[in-house]
Amino acid sequence: MATTYEEMERYTFDHFQKLARENRFPEHAKIPHREALCLICHPEKIEGDVFGLVLRLVTACIAERRPICDTSLISAIEEELAINEQEGQVTLEGLLNGDPEAAKAWRVWAWNSINVAFEMLSMHGAHAPSLSLEEAVAEGKEAVIEEALRTLLERQKAQTRALRSRG
Ligand SMILES: [Zn+2]
Repeated sequence: MATTYEEMERYTFDHFQKLARENRFPEHAKIPHREALCLICHPEKIEGDVFGLVLRLVTACIAERRPICDTSLISAIEEELAINEQEGQVTLEGLLNGDPEAAKAWRVWAWNSINVAFEMLSMHGAHAPSLSLEEAVAEGKEAVIEEALRTLLERQKAQTRALRSRG
């Protein structure tokens, strides 16, 4: 039976999201998997925009690794600000309540996390796509990036709210 594109996409997302959940994403290149179904092994089979698909994949993986807004996310954001020598104020409640300063700090973290994931994925195999957010911006893809960032933050916030309401 022929494999459909939907099956390849589902397999690719399941595979990488599972690795992210298990904190094994950085080892992805060494992990045996069904390469024939993997869109990162076979980016030539990606339908539509390669950047858009891989961006969706890495943000889904980041959401697995950091599913909620919690103190460990705040620490990761503070670390990222320090590494990038950026000023910024971020508190957990600020981030959850839409404080612009917190959102700006979160964005520095998310931006770099996405670029790091792109860099890791570029080592997936001989044909793995090599991407960066800066290049994509230069190609006029801001709208796709903004949408992905918004989706990631909303997902983290929604999961935090869901967790808190369960008490
Ligand atoms: Zn693969």
